[in-house]
Amino acid sequence: MAKTVKVPEIKIVEKVELPAKETAIIVVDMQNDFVKPGGKLLVPTAKDTIPKIKKLLENARSRGVKVFYTKDTHYPGDPEFKIWGDHVVKGTWGWEIVDELKPEANDIVVEKTRYDGFYGTPLDDLLRVYGIKYLVITGTVANICVLHTAGSAALRWYKVIVPVDAISALNEFDYYVALRQIDFLYKGVLVKTVDGIIFK
Ligand code: ZN
Repeated sequence: MAKTVKVPEIKIVEKVELPAKETAIIVVDMQNDFVKPGGKLLVPTAKDTIPKIKKLLENARSRGVKVFYTKDTHYPGDPEFKIWGDHVVKGTWGWEIVDELKPEANDIVVEKTRYDGFYGTPLDDLLRVYGIKYLVITGTVANICVLHTAGSAALRWYKVIVPVDAISALNEFDYYVALRQIDFLYKGVLVKTVDGIIFK
């Protein structure tokens, strides 16, 4: 069934100012299997977000903003392989975060087994320990792990901010689905580029 649908109006702002001490960056699943040629579940446009995320991380780290990563993590025989095939098996090359965005010593890496970065992980507890209220969410896949993590954050009343040049999806439809849900349903703030994110 091929059907053309109109994307509803989605609000995207130029700039947002965030309190550095109460903000964290979450880099979702920027792992070789999703990002690099030869990866088992390649998102072709994910590589284009690497320089954007890198720039955001440099800015954030220079202002003392806490950085979190989620790492999709599966073990042999995981039921998710029936849906997606094998991917990000713990300990393999594909499971590693891409070299360009390697976590630094003070960053926190959270391993997750499903789309939602909060589900069955210590993420919520860790964010609360550090007094975080605002989450800048980046990474891949926009309508899967990014959206589920953003939605789960919003349900817990974190304020979600997503720079739209720092997320990627398997196709344009999926990308706009994610933007629509983050804007309309979760009342997140979509920002045009990572340059529009200002830490105070
Ligand atoms: Zn997975």
